[in-house]
Amino acid sequence: MTERCDVLVIGAGPAGLAAACAAASHGAKVVMVDMQPRVGGQVWRQDLRKPAVAAAREAFAELSAQPAVRCLQQAHVVAARPGYVLIEHAGTAMELHYRALVLATGARELLLPFPGWTLPGVTGAGALQALVKQGWPIAGKRVLVAGSGPLLLAAAATLHAHGAQVLAICEQAPAAQLRGFAMQLWRWPSKLVQAAGLRARLAGVPYRSGTWVRSASGNQRVTEVEIESARGVERIACDHLAVGYGLVANTELAQQLGCELTMQDRHPHVRVDTRLMTSVADVYAAGEACGIGGVDTARIEGAMAGCFAAGADKEAEALRVRRDYARAFAELLPRHFALREQIHLAATPQTVVCRCEDVNLSQLHGHRAWRAAKLATRCGMGSCQGRICGAALAELRVFDNALAAANAANPNPNSNLNPNPLPPTPATTAHGARPPVFPTRLASLAGSFSSEGESAAQSKP
Ligand SMILES: Cc1cc2nc3c(=O)[nH]c(=O)nc-3n(C[C@H](O)[C@H](O)[C@H](O)COP(=O)(O)OP(=O)(O)OC[C@H]3O[C@@H](n4cnc5c(N)ncnc54)[C@H](O)[C@@H]3O)c2cc1C
Repeated sequence: MTERCDVLVIGAGPAGLAAACAAASHGAKVVMVDMQPRVGGQVWRQDLRKPAVAAAREAFAELSAQPAVRCLQQAHVVAARPGYVLIEHAGTAMELHYRALVLATGARELLLPFPGWTLPGVTGAGALQALVKQGWPIAGKRVLVAGSGPLLLAAAATLHAHGAQVLAICEQAPAAQLRGFAMQLWRWPSKLVQAAGLRARLAGVPYRSGTWVRSASGNQRVTEVEIESARGVERIACDHLAVGYGLVANTELAQQLGCELTMQDRHPHVRVDTRLMTSVADVYAAGEACGIGGVDTARIEGAMAGCFAAGADKEAEALRVRRDYARAFAELLPRHFALREQIHLAATPQTVVCRCEDVNLSQLHGHRAWRAAKLATRCGMGSCQGRICGAALAELRVFDNALAAANAANPNPNSNLNPNPLPPTPATTAHGARPPVFPTRLASLAGSFSSEGESAAQSKP
């Protein structure tokens, strides 16, 4: 099946929603695709027992009022080429051709290995938040929230609101760094209000800075967590450990398209110019995909990218000041939540790093590059396709000098971001550069992208 649209938006989070509505409001025929059953992305994921926040309700209402936006939910974009993408939707494969594309693919949690991290009951902080919103029973359960970054507070607040007994929030960043962060917040009053609101909702829950997880233990599932801080090592009995070390951008589709990436703290995000266009003509990117920036940045960049994609340059330019202001906040995060070395050293040689393929750290020693390790151990070749272990191994610098250079792996002769091409930089992996992005039925892949020339010719307007 083949379909066509003016503007294709991948991702229906705050960035994708804003992009779709902005493009449609300027006359474009828009298709918005998301693999989730509902629009809203990560931050506005539907909570079965709580009403959506006001900003989400506004965005959903705006979408409903836009007949020119067609939403495809539970649709996975499994492969992308300039001009068209391959989608698996409702059991069938579809080729969707576009004139302009907005990548609003968001981010995922950075999960790092430590002894016991694969025990049942140990999850990402955002992951447990997502499960609980979807009805996972948490009332009365003792939960330790740990890791780093503002997501810990948001996740803890959701768990608390659903009746969990949040034992503590263990933030690995030292108190001085957090104070430095808090002292800058006056420049973004809405963030200050949000942070204060979350802390108020979590009154009575200890927030421990400079505290990190060493290990989790238990027979069938986690029953105890060992944490470390200036006070020394402590053991905490719990039913759940929700631990995440910040977010990393989803760049796999951008890599497939040949978009240049840029590095921030060992992890790549999509490089865009001042018009939010990537290095591939007519491919734009917005929100977390262009660097972790939070919901406000995602919304404003989505609106801007949607306007540019629909040719409404003047309206897009009018948003620039707000966008720069929102992005400036994003720049604070890596500085104040940088991970301490003890977290990088938590995994022992026996610790599993690739849980899909059951590969431990010691099995990777001796391999100088990700690709060689993959071929020998199947690390990163399981159902998550390296999404978890790829980012973790980059963070831990396991393949020190030999991490795949994503830009070098995807040379793009048509780059429109030159004359300052990125030097080859160590990126997490180049594993996302080849289709499919997700495990896909063979029937979906058969015939797709096999007649590249023909499809490319069809995609010309
Ligand atoms: C687990 C998690 C929980 C979070 N919770 C909060 C929170 O409570 N509060 C907060 O302020 N921030 C939270 N964040 C941060 C959040 O990323 C941003 O604030 C905001 O959601 C970013 O918006 P976005 O539109 O850029 O990306 P997202 O909201 O992440 O939206 C991206 C969308 O793209 C879709 N997508 C990606 N790739 C494909 C593909 N190949 N095919 C089809 N669809 C695709 C995804 O399904 C997703 O819906 C959370 C992040 C994560 C990872």
